[in-house]
Amino acid sequence: MKIYIDGKYLDERSAKVSVFDHGLLYGDGIFEGIRIYNGRIFKLQEHIDRLFYSAKAILLQIPLSHAELVKATVETCRKNKLREGYIRLIVTRGVGTLGLNPRSCKKPSVIIIADKIQLYPPAYYQRGLDIITVPTTRNLHSALNPAIKSLNYLNNILAKIEANNGGCEEAVMLNAEGFVAECTGDNLFIVKNGALFTPPLSAGALYGITRQTVIELAETAGLKVSEPNLTRYDLFNADECFLTGTGAELIPVVKIDGRVIGTGKPGKLTRKLEEKYHALTNASGEPIYE
Ligand code: PMP
Repeated sequence: MKIYIDGKYLDERSAKVSVFDHGLLYGDGIFEGIRIYNGRIFKLQEHIDRLFYSAKAILLQIPLSHAELVKATVETCRKNKLREGYIRLIVTRGVGTLGLNPRSCKKPSVIIIADKIQLYPPAYYQRGLDIITVPTTRNLHSALNPAIKSLNYLNNILAKIEANNGGCEEAVMLNAEGFVAECTGDNLFIVKNGALFTPPLSAGALYGITRQTVIELAETAGLKVSEPNLTRYDLFNADECFLTGTGAELIPVVKIDGRVIGTGKPGKLTRKLEEKYHALTNASGEPIYE
């Protein structure tokens, strides 16, 4: 496997970063997770836009332009002859001293890994997930804005551990006010009386690219989509529930905190949107080989 690091395509064994990189020492950096379907990179422009927004929020100067990043990402996939897979794009603050001051880091590092990924086994898509609300709340906007896709994912990881301890794969994270924010690596949707609802981004969710894609697909299909604050009560009494994310795509949820959602089986609208999402991923994206 060839991995891009700062302009070079290195073998997996020699693709190494310094122990003084502040991405490692402090989680000082940002990343994106992107999918490749059918020899094309899905929503590449949107992911690179979001990377630049994260960079701006943490005052990190990405050493490549938008177009150069697109080119390097496509080239990494090409060198690995990937037609289906997952890309991890990382920008770290770079090598510095042991002190946390980012001023000691003279040059940010860009890393691109293109590999395979499978988030959940197929059975979970067939029967739906059982998820729980966890005690760890989503980061406050005023502390570390959840819109920043930073290398510090401890907030999400703690919630994931709590979900695992409770025998579940995914956690519902509330914000400090008790409204639903999102899951540890996915946005959350519910269906009620034929309409879609998802927490507003201001509730503490990542600006999910799959979330946006699903909103657009639903609206095109004539469904009403709104973004009100949601409580656990709203989730328990939903007709359907599903999660969205680049890795997970759309995955149905059939139980939350022991409450059966709707019929206890993946819902009809969830299935319809899943189908539309797969049709789109198979038919669009930045071509790698043309
Ligand atoms: N929320 C969080 C916390 C995430 O890490 C992700 C990405 N895995 C998402 C939501 C989904 O975002 P996207 O659809 O852009 O992958």
